Formats: sequence, structure tokens, C-alpha cells
Amino acid sequence: MSYRSIAIDGPAGAGKSTLARRLAKELGYLYVDTGAIYRTVTLAVLRAGADPAEEKDVVPLLEGLDIRMAYNDAGEQRMYLSGEDVSEAIREHMVSGAASKVSAIPAVRTFLLDFQRRQARENNVVMDGRDIGTVVLPGADMKIFLTAAPEARARRRLLELEQRGQRADYDAILRDIRERDHQDESRSVAPLKRAGDADLFDTTQLNLEQSLAGLLSLVKEKIGP
Ligand code: C5P
Repeated sequence: MSYRSIAIDGPAGAGKSTLARRLAKELGYLYVDTGAIYRTVTLAVLRAGADPAEEKDVVPLLEGLDIRMAYNDAGEQRMYLSGEDVSEAIREHMVSGAASKVSAIPAVRTFLLDFQRRQARENNVVMDGRDIGTVVLPGADMKIFLTAAPEARARRRLLELEQRGQRADYDAILRDIRERDHQDESRSVAPLKRAGDADLFDTTQLNLEQSLAGLLSLVKEKIGP
């Protein structure tokens, strides 16, 4: 039996993970957050005291890496590093910054390629990341490039942090977003770019429900009900 796959790529903060998760739920597909997988490798690198930007320090760590992904009863993706649930730890600010460095290392991407593809071989998936439509699942049934203006992404992030009771500064967030965009777009391996056959979906002027409705109608149009 062959499975359906929907690839969603785009920059940080465009609403990818929230929308991909909701879309997967509506369709009854599995949601695969590939950023979480890169973050887990990054956490391992940081815990080992290695420099995330140094290929020669990072590559030897890959061989002994014990990474697992599982879904809990609520259907949430959890990440395990050497048996420890690190799903919360990988969201820390330090990991976010280091992840774009670790994920720019070609050996890391090769190491994770099959891990990601396996999920799509065994399930109907909505998979989100940076290079899903271009590299991981070039044959996906549908590809979406989800984006929003950096200012809109920074505002959403600010709100999210404030709702969690954390202090945050809009200008610092915007700077961070631009820097990560630059890193993700300019790296030589698997740079963030729209696949030629991906539909562009801009959420700058849309709220979550409007974005979800728009995505669902795109899916219906492309791959049927
Ligand atoms: O999406 P998220 O912010 O969790 O991703 C963390 C980091 O992992 C990003 O900065 C990005 O560089 C990297 N990443 C990647 N390829 C993917 C998913 C994430 O390079 N498919």
C-alpha cells in the first residue's frame, strides 16, 4: 500500500508547525516535525560540549547517537535522546540558535535523511521542515511553501512568549528571525528554498483559522477529499 505525503517548508515562525499539526489532524495523517529531529541532534552536540559549527567535532558524535521518535496517546510527537524524553529541552533558546549551525553540516543531513523518509514510507504524513519538498520527499503528493513577512513572524513569536509569561523584546526577536532566515537560505547544503512545484502560501494577513481553511482547500483541490 502506498501512503500520501504533504510536504510543508518555509522559514521559522511562518506558522508551519502549528498549521502542519492541525492539517494532519484534519486529514487523519501523522504530523512529522523534522525541526524537532534536528534539534535533538543539536542537543546531543551541546551536551557533548562540542562546537555546533565545527564539522570535525560534530561528525564523530553521529555514530553513537541514539535518537528515537514516538507518538504519545494524545498523538503528540515526542523526541528521545538515549532514552530520555527531551521534547521540552530541545525548545530552549540555545538549541534554536545552535540548530541552524548543526543542520548546515552535510553529514548531519545525510544521517537524518533516511530517518525522515522512513516515516513517510510507513504512514500518511504531513511533514514540515526546510527541505522536505526539495530533498526529503521530492515525490510528495503535495508541496506547500509557507511564508510570512519577518515582522509578522516576530509579532507572533512575541505574543507566544508573552502568553507563556516570558519577557521578550520585539527588536531582538526580529533580528533573530532575520539572522536565522539568512543562515537557512544561504547555506550550501539543502538551503531553504521553494521547490519548483510547491504552492506558495503567505500567512502575513491571515490568522490561524483562515490559514488552515486556505490550506485545506488547497489540499482538496490537489489531492482530493
Ligand atoms: O523548525 P525548527 O525551528 O524547529 O528547526 C530548527 C532548525 O533545524 C532550523 O534552524 C533549521 O535550520 C533546521 N532544520 C533543517 N531542516 C529541516 C528542519 C529544520 O535544517 N527539515
